[in-house]
Amino acid sequence: MNEKPSISNLAAIDAAHHIHPFSDMAELNARGTRIIERAEGLFITDSTGKKYLDAFAGLWCVNVGYGRKSIAEAAYRQMQELPYYNAFFGTTTPPATLLAQKVASHAGPNLNRVFFTNSGSEATDTWFRMARVYWKALGKPQKTQVIARKNGYHGSTVAGASLGGMKLMHEQGNLPIDGIHHINQPYWYAEGEHLSPAEFGLKIARELETKIDELGEDRVAAFVAEPIQGAGGVIIPPDTYWPEIARICKARNILLVVDEVICGFGRLGEWFGHQHYGVEPDLAPIAKGLSSGYLPIGGVLVSDRVAEVMMNEVGEFYHGFTYSGHPVAAAAALENIRIIEEEGLVERVRDDIGPYFAAAWKSLESHEVVGEAQSVGLMGGLQLAADKATRRRYEKPDDIGTLVRNHCLENGLILRATGDRMLASPALTISRSEVDQVIETLSKALDHLREKGLG
Ligand SMILES: *Cc1c(COP(=O)(O)O)cnc(C)c1O
Repeated sequence: MNEKPSISNLAAIDAAHHIHPFSDMAELNARGTRIIERAEGLFITDSTGKKYLDAFAGLWCVNVGYGRKSIAEAAYRQMQELPYYNAFFGTTTPPATLLAQKVASHAGPNLNRVFFTNSGSEATDTWFRMARVYWKALGKPQKTQVIARKNGYHGSTVAGASLGGMKLMHEQGNLPIDGIHHINQPYWYAEGEHLSPAEFGLKIARELETKIDELGEDRVAAFVAEPIQGAGGVIIPPDTYWPEIARICKARNILLVVDEVICGFGRLGEWFGHQHYGVEPDLAPIAKGLSSGYLPIGGVLVSDRVAEVMMNEVGEFYHGFTYSGHPVAAAAALENIRIIEEEGLVERVRDDIGPYFAAAWKSLESHEVVGEAQSVGLMGGLQLAADKATRRRYEKPDDIGTLVRNHCLENGLILRATGDRMLASPALTISRSEVDQVIETLSKALDHLREKGLG
């Protein structure tokens, strides 16, 4: 058992037994999987000893960076003291209770309660059921329809994939399920045509109003959106968008659900994305940065408005997971949040490294193949363009993004590509020189794309 299998052995075992998420397994097995063995700070190391600067924080989640011994120790201590107990039958554990209080203390003033899950997808399923139960308890059982957005992402369970606006996900498995509707996204570069971003933001927000009218206000339970669409390509909405969405939800009396799974825990330079955009959600799913990915844990922040009905009118809510509020995951999350507080990482993103990153990222706009480079906090989206002046896009967007991403990878930088957009989402601890390194490597990859002369 002490002998480590060789790299080629591990790759062969992987090909024989391990089905990866969101992967074409025939293609992956032909190419061979990359085996990641270690990480420290911003850097990960693979089994060949090659080091990469991870400008994507794993999968949008390692907000405090890799190698935090104090999180490992908190989990170890908790596991020795009490590895597991549930919160089903009138019990709780200290970490679960304290974590709920801690998370609520950083969210908007009306968000004071948390329902724990193990992932963002489960958080989506949780609020989806809660929204319908809420309206039923208020004597409006017909208020069941939920409006979401094209190209949104809310997870990969049946409800998550249905609420998400990913066509390819819908096509596998007859999704979306009944009662879910999608409106357009605030993606000005691709869909704004002749409108200014401000005009376009309002126009797209008002599609919510139109959709509510079409369905009938008394049939609509909720609207859900990410503050900034992550998996969809870091689509940053025009400033006019969110205030109008909040106004419409209030005026039409439907619940506003803000998916904080990526934007929560400092990514935008506030504790939560709803604070950056100045809106008050009724429900807010969280995960990823909650534990910086050290252990799986998610949840739903529940507003006083919804919590009062759930507590006083519903009775038992028949929903929960064996591991809801798992004490070891909660202990890791508590230590993660303690680090974010102690090191002032949210303020650092808002006042220091965020502005530094923004200026560096924006500088890429001078590049011939870049249409637009936008960021908020430490979340950046870079639009590749075949012709800057006319906002003309490349004909094979997926190939273009992959070309740039692979060039970065060869040169030791991990970024993500979604179609013809390059996405960055580094740990909140990234240093200035590491930001410089991201920009330098990405810049060379953009040169490579220009030299290829694809268009
Ligand atoms: C990742 C993600 C989810 C799903 O979280 P999982 O933990 O992968 O289930 C939901 N919403 C958003 C916005 C996400 O980015």
